[in-house]
Amino acid sequence: MNNNTLENSFSTSYEELNFIEKAWTDYFNLFEKEAIATAIIAFVLHEIVYFGRCVPFIIADYIPSFAKYKLQPAKVNMAKEQWICLKSVLTSHFLMELPLIFGFHPIATFFGMDITTVPFPHWQTICYQVALFFVMEDTFHYWFHRLLHYGPFYKYIHKQHHEYSAPFGLAAEYAHPLEVLILGTGTIGGPLLWVSITHNLHLITVFIWISLRLFQAIDAHSGYDFPWSLRHFLPFWAGAEHHDYHHMAFVNCFSTSFRWWDYLMGTDLKYKAYRQKRQTQADELKAAAANGSTSASSDIKKTN
Ligand SMILES: [Zn+2]
Ligand SMILES: [Zn+2]
Repeated sequence: MNNNTLENSFSTSYEELNFIEKAWTDYFNLFEKEAIATAIIAFVLHEIVYFGRCVPFIIADYIPSFAKYKLQPAKVNMAKEQWICLKSVLTSHFLMELPLIFGFHPIATFFGMDITTVPFPHWQTICYQVALFFVMEDTFHYWFHRLLHYGPFYKYIHKQHHEYSAPFGLAAEYAHPLEVLILGTGTIGGPLLWVSITHNLHLITVFIWISLRLFQAIDAHSGYDFPWSLRHFLPFWAGAEHHDYHHMAFVNCFSTSFRWWDYLMGTDLKYKAYRQKRQTQADELKAAAANGSTSASSDIKKTN
């Protein structure tokens, strides 16, 4: 039992810690090796958040009144397709991501990341660091994703992720192992770069960042744009409406979380033209329906 975790890593007494901090300390004290404890909790967290976030979207597929929020309503992903995707994602998690997760602790501690330290950092510190990681990952992803659309990179690596032209939540991490490695670097590279420069980062912040990044990735692949989706409140947030177009058209919209890189580089022009066309069609249909009801009601008046 590693009681050093408790004795050496903080000056606050155990009783003064909040519930999560106590659980954190108790958890790490269960293990002889901190690296094993870190890998297990990281992997379990990843599985719970990834599959847990997919569940509401799977349920939504069975609720008819939600069909109107589907971005590509004509394309239905059958249970069989989702099952094949699930098996592939699980295989990748165990064979690809799990070994990488085991490699995380030695690198993180080498750069000075706080692992067992309690109390946790101030919530404002966590917030600005997570916001920074979002910006860093989005930038990394934009450029490497664009590169993955280039000739052989697309053919041999990225094509697998594009098998689903109408994506669904589970497909977020459906990708070639090399793509998992390349784009995963964008997710974990930001925190590692940050801690290597500042030596100011706690593992809990990394876990919060990864959980939110998973939420973002699954939302972006969900195939749903709800009136309460984040992009309606944050105009620069990409959301499913943005990434779904990328899967449908195979062009434009290369970023993950934000819209600014595609805007700056002009890689959203086709997307914008498409959305404009769809809006015009919807407006015309509305106008035609309104005219139809007006002429129908004037016909009734005439008859009266
Ligand atoms: Zn792509
Ligand atoms: Zn995608």
